[in-house]
Amino acid sequence: MIKFSFRRWLCSCLVVGLSCCLLAGCSVNVSGGKTLTVATEPTFPPFEFQGKGGELEGFSIDLMRAVAAAANFQVEFQSLPFDGMIPALQAKTIDAAISSMTITEERAKTVAFSRPYFKAGLAIAIRADNQDITGFDSLQNKKIAVQIGTTGAAKAKSVTGAQVSSFDSAPLALQELQNGNVDAVINDAPVTLYAVNTGNLQGIKVIQQLLTEEFYGIATAKKSPYLSLINQGLATVFKDGNYQLIYQKWFKSTPPILPDKLPFANSKADKLNSLSLLLQALPTLLIGVLVTLQLALISVIFGLIGGSLIGILHLSTIKPVRLLTRAYVDFFRGTPLLVQIFMIYFGLPAIFQEMGFTFSLNRLVAGVIALSLNSAAYIAEIVRAGIQSIAIGQSEAARSLGLNSFQTMRYVIFPQAFQRMIPPLGNEFISLLKDTSLVAVIGFEELFRKGQLIVAENYRAFEIYAMVAVIYLCLTLVSSQAISRLEKWMKLRGV
Ligand code: GLN
Repeated sequence: MIKFSFRRWLCSCLVVGLSCCLLAGCSVNVSGGKTLTVATEPTFPPFEFQGKGGELEGFSIDLMRAVAAAANFQVEFQSLPFDGMIPALQAKTIDAAISSMTITEERAKTVAFSRPYFKAGLAIAIRADNQDITGFDSLQNKKIAVQIGTTGAAKAKSVTGAQVSSFDSAPLALQELQNGNVDAVINDAPVTLYAVNTGNLQGIKVIQQLLTEEFYGIATAKKSPYLSLINQGLATVFKDGNYQLIYQKWFKSTPPILPDKLPFANSKADKLNSLSLLLQALPTLLIGVLVTLQLALISVIFGLIGGSLIGILHLSTIKPVRLLTRAYVDFFRGTPLLVQIFMIYFGLPAIFQEMGFTFSLNRLVAGVIALSLNSAAYIAEIVRAGIQSIAIGQSEAARSLGLNSFQTMRYVIFPQAFQRMIPPLGNEFISLLKDTSLVAVIGFEELFRKGQLIVAENYRAFEIYAMVAVIYLCLTLVSSQAISRLEKWMKLRGV
């Protein structure tokens, strides 16, 4: 007799389900030609951005589609951060990248470029009321915001005495300028001009248009079989007038003449061995460690103070106080820390500016505020649960000995509760330590950002990120050791 086994039935369902998913994922395109996964970072209008309905739009997107049609292949766009594109091409997780990527000699050592498809260059953007900066030479000792891993970032690095902060995307760097935290932004001229001309970026002017002359190319992995296909498609769209149409659509002018070859050969890099690479990166990463620790320690102190207060207030007999603390905890626990960081650093100054006040936040202050507010919500819950875990008889006994409610809390309840709070507080510190990496989005150069900056220069993502992970691991292991020692010590002392 066949017995029905629920477990076996569940397993078969899982196997069938998984196989279906895998088959769907690997499905072959039947509409003709290969499907190429093409990466783009859609934060660079008018080249690549998300339209009103969320679909990809822009000059590069139209061009890539035209190239694909001309060379008979299909395109599947994949959104990727700009600084992750070259590592992804190397790892062959994508087939090509079209993301206004300037063809540079350095990059051509790691990836292969198609023939140039656009002529651009860098421009300097400053606030409209700035009379001080008149050109590249007057950028010395100034604060400059750039997008990480771009030619603009490399140019800013060459300015003597400049304080360069790097952001994940060009709009964030421009927002930083608008908020008054930096003096200038070095970015691709067509993108900055588009933002200014469309009115999306107010109070900003562009000086020194085309500081450099650059050409964009479609990038593929070295020796990729798709490079010739893409070049063939590009040649066709240049010849059949499609390119001119797309250019006219986005730039309302006729395109300049482009070279049909790369300015230099697709050469090969002399690869540094992993050990030397790591030794070279270590000092920079260690500076990042110091910043990470500073951020975590300051934030945990504020978080502890705020969290204890909120946790105790939550036990109040006054209902509105309880409701307020509940709302605080719900808000900060229920929204992503990343969103909170963006709100505090970019959102607050922007809203104050709109109201006519000048208000800007220092990166460290913004990072500490965001991390402390967030961890205070978790700590409040730990404190509340710790206090509530002490048997009611304890406070009754204390009261019968004549202690008032403050003394009961201070001498009887809190010391016992604190011992129970140490393990969850330790966990909270470890989470906080790891969460500091999120502050990288506001250009704060802590450990993770330092790693990203190194990868943006040498494209050795695996080694560098592995090292960053190992350093975080060491930090958390050391912290958890310290916390368990503290716990033992408190037990011994009978605190
Ligand atoms: N053209 C610039 C570069 O290649 C910026 C590109 C971008 O941010 N998408 O570095």
